[in-house]
Amino acid sequence: MKVTTAKHAGYCYGVQRALKLALEATVGSEKPIYTLGPIIHNPQVVESLERQGVRAVNSVDQVDTGTIIIRTHGVDPKITVAARKRDLEVIDATCPFVAKAQQRAASLVKSGYKVVIVGERNHPEVAGLLAFTDNKALVVENANELKNIKEMNRVGVVVQTTQSIENLKNIVEGLLSKTKELKVFNTICNATSQRQEAARELSEMVDLMLVVGGKNSANTTRLAQICKENNKKSYHIETSDEIEEAWLDGIKHIGVTAGASTPDWILKEVIDRVKALAD
Ligand code: SF4
Repeated sequence: MKVTTAKHAGYCYGVQRALKLALEATVGSEKPIYTLGPIIHNPQVVESLERQGVRAVNSVDQVDTGTIIIRTHGVDPKITVAARKRDLEVIDATCPFVAKAQQRAASLVKSGYKVVIVGERNHPEVAGLLAFTDNKALVVENANELKNIKEMNRVGVVVQTTQSIENLKNIVEGLLSKTKELKVFNTICNATSQRQEAARELSEMVDLMLVVGGKNSANTTRLAQICKENNKKSYHIETSDEIEEAWLDGIKHIGVTAGASTPDWILKEVIDRVKALAD
């Protein structure tokens, strides 16, 4: 059986950077270290960090002393201010691409645009982006939602970094007939589009596709959706234990991809298990 890994798969720059910052913080630290929410959407990595003394909390109010790490998704700037007021050391691991989208959103508001955020309403990155517009932006998840929106004068668009380009195109097309002036900042990051394109290509070539990553990871879930559209035999798994032997019946070529928050060791375990089952 042949196993092919997608050309772009696994940890992205932002996640690697955040994990490096978190691990560096543990060196010689006597004070407790926290992340505001799980540092990445991968339960196995979060557990591993916990073993190294980095614990996730939901709010700065839960922390009296020590260091708090802002994860790649970024946060409402008021949260950073509140943490510093409590004398906590703040390590800002907001991905630079997310920070760029936040700056774009803020500058659009300043220039008088109505901001539209293309993204998932309940995603923390979108909540952070919204805060950079003083909660004045309109969040649009898909083009269908534009039906009930009235005409607007000047609209500026920013995008949750893990969105698909197709969704952005559909929403922008829908906005064209609703706006007099439309400015679009495509803030989708390359890591996402590269992983999506590589997953799409590979899923078309193989008999079965495994998408590895947290079930709570937006970018992994999107990869799984893309693969499923091209290949009905596509499965989203978090670990190698979830692979069912029956899936491999009659399969000659397996494709494997992983979300931007999936570590290499989990991807390797999946590949090893597939190969072992095939023997
Ligand atoms: S997917 Fe892109 S924006 Fe998100 S953390 Fe990774 S590099 Fe940054």
